Amino acid sequence: MQLLAAGPEHRRSHQHGTKGHGHDQDHGGDPGHDDAGHLHIQGTAADERTVILQQKVLAKNDEIAQRSREWLRHRGVLAVNLMSSPGAGKTTLLERTARELAGKLRLSVIEGDQETALDARRIQAAGAAVVQINTGAGCHLDAAMVAEGLRALDPPGGSIVMIENVGNLVCPALFDLGESCRVVIMSVTEGADKPLKYPHMFRTADLILLNKIDLLPYVDFDVDSFLGFLGQVNPAARVVQVSATRGDGTPDWYGWLRGRLPDRRGG
Ligand code: MG
Ligand code: ZN
Repeated sequence: MQLLAAGPEHRRSHQHGTKGHGHDQDHGGDPGHDDAGHLHIQGTAADERTVILQQKVLAKNDEIAQRSREWLRHRGVLAVNLMSSPGAGKTTLLERTARELAGKLRLSVIEGDQETALDARRIQAAGAAVVQINTGAGCHLDAAMVAEGLRALDPPGGSIVMIENVGNLVCPALFDLGESCRVVIMSVTEGADKPLKYPHMFRTADLILLNKIDLLPYVDFDVDSFLGFLGQVNPAARVVQVSATRGDGTPDWYGWLRGRLPDRRGG
């Protein structure tokens, strides 16, 4: 297992892009309180400069992401950007996936967390190759971090790289990592209205895994309401209901992954 820490440029200048949404997601550059201060100063010259800087950061990110995407495509590797709020079950799902696909599909993992290698140790114990990236104050993975992780992992053709993003439903949606597809995990212990509150995250997802369905008898979560809200922001998203701890729905999850694997026979 390898541990990579984000470089000082990631830790210090951590501006977020807005992709046409103006200033409403400016997180500022305070290295110690990355997401703490959200300033809303409208229509000032400083605000315009911030937006331009953010666009540059995102443009540079997208360029690196595009290079990774080409590299992955050339190798015939499927890269999945796995996103959720903290505690939705990303690591637990990956542990089960690594164990159950062992010997059938080659799987490796890039683990993104602010600190610690705890999740990477869990993934390694489940039998998958893993690189842990610690983002420090950063609240998302970016394309440069993932490119470094891919170099360290050196995934073989026909394999899957799972990129477990930092637990956060906001800015990870803005950062292209060069992935082939995006999967959002949402658990039934969260509010069913999350798709409406975090539309950017749910809008760009190819698959939504509704996790912890074993807890449905004990929580106040209405699946139909959730599906209705999701339909408002992303009617095309596929939904699979799973329990990462009990195993419900995982055959559908594996089937979806297999269907996404690049066909290498076609060159
Ligand atoms: Mg985790
Ligand atoms: Zn962030």
